[in-house]
Amino acid sequence: MRTLIRADLVIDGKGNALEKGAVLFEGDNIFACGRAADIGAPDGTEIIESKGTLLPGLCDVHVHLHSPGTPSENGEHRAAMARMSYAEIALAASSYAMSTLKAGFTSVRDCAAPGGVIIDLRNAINKGYVTGPRIKACGLGLTVTGGHMDPPVWADYIHLDNFAAACNGVDGFRQGAREQLKRGADFIKLNTWVSYHDSPDRFWRQEMTEPEIASACDEAHAQGVHVAAHVYGPEGVAASVRNGVDSIEHGHWIDEPTVELMAKHGTTFVPTLTVNDRHASLALANPDLAERYKRWHRRSSEDKWATLERVRKAGIRVCSGTDVGFQIEHGKWNAHEIVLLVKGGFTPMEAIICATANSTDLMGINAGRLEAGRLADMIILDGNPLDDVTLLEKPELMRVFKGGVEIH
Ligand SMILES: [Zn+2]
Repeated sequence: MRTLIRADLVIDGKGNALEKGAVLFEGDNIFACGRAADIGAPDGTEIIESKGTLLPGLCDVHVHLHSPGTPSENGEHRAAMARMSYAEIALAASSYAMSTLKAGFTSVRDCAAPGGVIIDLRNAINKGYVTGPRIKACGLGLTVTGGHMDPPVWADYIHLDNFAAACNGVDGFRQGAREQLKRGADFIKLNTWVSYHDSPDRFWRQEMTEPEIASACDEAHAQGVHVAAHVYGPEGVAASVRNGVDSIEHGHWIDEPTVELMAKHGTTFVPTLTVNDRHASLALANPDLAERYKRWHRRSSEDKWATLERVRKAGIRVCSGTDVGFQIEHGKWNAHEIVLLVKGGFTPMEAIICATANSTDLMGINAGRLEAGRLADMIILDGNPLDDVTLLEKPELMRVFKGGVEIH
């Protein structure tokens, strides 16, 4: 049966806001989007009337569904994870996935989980065992031995298996990429350059060599998937972009020549403003935290705005990604990134495009725009997000449709 949603406002994900608009869909497929008067109501159509706004389902391209995201003191969240089996982690993740979907997020990209279990959650959702958003998952993140995702937190007789994939050298990173793709990964996550706390004026340092980055990217691209990199600092971003990385996660310090390089390569930027703001407020309020960490948080939380401004002016594709799961909770914080993109200079319409069309394009999901032939992933919002973008942070104002099916 065909369904028609008529709304006072339709935001189509392509930059248009149509007053008295409508979307006609059947099953998971959109047939038409336009003015309600032009589309009409074919015989036998179910009609949903709304005084609010109809817009594409939202996306968060940087989540960690394995972890609840409740704030914890240093290392506690890792210790809690170490007491859980993969099955328990995956079952907990399915509840976080449901919170995410109910908050209007119909697609997410999971940027690393122990045991690669979010690949299994993705499969379970696709097979209909559980309900959740569309997921693109990387499995394990690739890191150098002892690097950002392979930290020496534990006593040396404790060995964490499958928390991340520690790789070394060009062959090691190619093998690491192949192993994640064999497991079913949709993309590859690298940790190329990471945060550094021991200098007052340099807040990043190298982990992966350029040949290692090139090797992982070459394998990923040969197998038709993209590469995301956790990376800080202009040299690190430039090294990542030059060697094939497709999306820059975090960034925070990117200078003008590096922005030009990103524009030339068509690189995507995921500024993760939410995790940075949230961690800064937790860190600066912690009396036990060493000053060098507080200095890093103060500087990154200021400097990230200038970076975002440079990237925005260069017209680089920006996607909305929060890093939820890492001391920020699923469902509660995903839409905060859209609010912060507006704080950083985007119009509400532009920020919504970052969280819809830009993000589905990055993930390779045929949604994110309300137009014929796209998946019917949509939300009806009781209010106008172009007047008040913080309405998107209120799941209680939403009706959520994934593939044309309303989520209850
Ligand atoms: Zn992350």
